[in-house]
Amino acid sequence: MLLLIPGPVQTDPRVRAAMTADIAPWDLDFRAEYAAIRAKVTEIAGGIPGRHATLPLQGSGHFIVEAAIRTFIPAGGCFLLPMNGTYAARIHRLASEAGRVPVTLELPDTRPVTEAELDAAFAAHPEVTHLCAVVSETGTGIINDPEVLGAAARRAGKRVLLDAVSAFGAWPFRLADHPEVDAITFTPNKCLEGLPGCGFAVCPVEHTRARLGQAGSWSLDLADVLLRAERNGSGSSRFTPAPQVLRAFGVAMRLYEEEGGQPARLARYRENMRILREGMEALGLRPYLAVEHQGPIIGTFHQPGGGFELQRFVDALKRRGVLISNFYNTEEPTFRVGCIGAVTPDDMRRAVSAMGDALRELDALPHTA
Ligand SMILES: *Cc1c(COP(=O)(O)O)cnc(C)c1O
Repeated sequence: MLLLIPGPVQTDPRVRAAMTADIAPWDLDFRAEYAAIRAKVTEIAGGIPGRHATLPLQGSGHFIVEAAIRTFIPAGGCFLLPMNGTYAARIHRLASEAGRVPVTLELPDTRPVTEAELDAAFAAHPEVTHLCAVVSETGTGIINDPEVLGAAARRAGKRVLLDAVSAFGAWPFRLADHPEVDAITFTPNKCLEGLPGCGFAVCPVEHTRARLGQAGSWSLDLADVLLRAERNGSGSSRFTPAPQVLRAFGVAMRLYEEEGGQPARLARYRENMRILREGMEALGLRPYLAVEHQGPIIGTFHQPGGGFELQRFVDALKRRGVLISNFYNTEEPTFRVGCIGAVTPDDMRRAVSAMGDALRELDALPHTA
């Protein structure tokens, strides 16, 4: 089965094969492996060893995003939240339930936030200490570029939290060039093509150390994760980690480097996206995003009329060996296709052809393609 979903993504068989051993997380051999994984993540984030630290947490992406919010924004504290997609809405809920106060910047879900909009929002809301934003909005495919977010935040003297869960490793970013960032968060199971089960925040050490206890949760306190690493070494963990997931992630990062790192991964995803968009347009389907707002991660398309029904389309596609999401997050009915994971341009051509066949079966082709 070819998985074209925005995570957990299709993985290389060598990544999955790394999961077959029993592992004692506190064993010295595994500690060395874990410490090396953390150092490698800091490097991929463009961090500086000693100044930035990779802080892992068990669980899915929401856990690490909540941990970053709790750790860096005090209870009752206000932060600016550009609302241009479903993952921004998830941040809103995570933060609100944790007693942090989002100040929303309402936007359409079809384009990124602009510097001018951020400047105006910061000027209107001096009470916010942070900007919290989704980099790759997985509901639609737009990108809120950290360069844009960072420039406005630095001008206003605000700190930044980046939910880069579906961007990290593919979208260009160097933490060393972003002194305004408190945390960039991600999981292994998206653009780094590992497996689900843990998340990471990469953070400036000084800022993090000073926040100890602010999270109001021992489990989700990233400053406590840092403290533990500083005391016992970065191969140690506070609670049982997911060692098989971590080992598989180590393999995934080795394959990432062998491919050529971030530039190569972005180039492959862009090519996947180009084939997808052109293929769908040739079938008469309309992309949800204008091409200038289309990121390389997720393609979203308006549902055609005729006999189209999303679950039936998903089933027809699955019978042809391709799996896509059976739900959508946009205001208008759409379907979405992931371009990330261990997926090649040839896979994408095969998927486009399968989509044409599935639409034909449903009698839902906009015109006879
Ligand atoms: C996948 C994703 C998450 C985390 O989702 P989980 O299901 O908790 O792993 C968070 N933010 C974005 C933008 C994502 O794409």
